[in-house]
Amino acid sequence: MNDALQRANDRTAVLVDTHDAGHTYGDGTRAVVAVHGVTCQVRRGDRIAVTGPSGSGKSTLLYMLAGLEAATTGSVEWPAFGATPAGRPTAAGLVFQGPSLIPTLDVTENVGLPLVLAGMTDAAARQAASRALGAVGIASLAWKLPGELSGGQAQRVAIARVLATEPALILADEPTGQLDHTTGGQVIDALLATAERIGAALVVSTHDPAVARRLDTEWHLIDGGLAAPATSTGAHR
Ligand code: ADP
Ligand code: MG
Repeated sequence: MNDALQRANDRTAVLVDTHDAGHTYGDGTRAVVAVHGVTCQVRRGDRIAVTGPSGSGKSTLLYMLAGLEAATTGSVEWPAFGATPAGRPTAAGLVFQGPSLIPTLDVTENVGLPLVLAGMTDAAARQAASRALGAVGIASLAWKLPGELSGGQAQRVAIARVLATEPALILADEPTGQLDHTTGGQVIDALLATAERIGAALVVSTHDPAVARRLDTEWHLIDGGLAAPATSTGAHR
């Protein structure tokens, strides 16, 4: 484990620190201010729901926290990681809202791919993938191709792929959006249990008040801005 991740193991470590951060897509007459004026911190142990109507900036804020979209105004820093977590699957992992599996790889290979790319052997990556698939209740799908999966199954594979790398920061963009209530509950159970087991922070965007209630803190977005100052509770756990 490198120094940055060692520091991230501290329960009080600030993983993400934003100041007046915003993101605007495009420019000139086509500019869309997706997020603006967000000052927030994510600490190890935090369990945060990002809520708000469609188009309020939830996905964009998650991309910014993951380092996948830059702040076009203000700043986003990752004190515990030392640098952007983008491209470092053990630092931060984002479960995308839409389909993101590679169609020619089976489920186990999809889940293990980030680990193989990070230098793990195929055998070790398969073992980690199996464990993550079990955690989201789909061990039986290990040999399927993405084209053989339902939308809900594919979503759980994408979640397993993030859990397998055991990131210090887990971000999930509407992970229960395509799932029925029971399956959605199981997915939240798996995210919470994994975050607890590996000591990660968890940030979940959701439309569903029942999902938001499962987390400790709610950040509500209206038109790209936080409705109230962001608080974070994990440091006290
Ligand atoms: P949410 O996830 O809450 O639905 P998004 O972050 O996806 O919100 O979108 C916030 C705003 O930014 C919306 O007005 C959306 O249309 C716009 N937006 C999102 N992605 C892009 C993009 N790639 N290019 C231009 N506008 C975008
Ligand atoms: Mg979205």
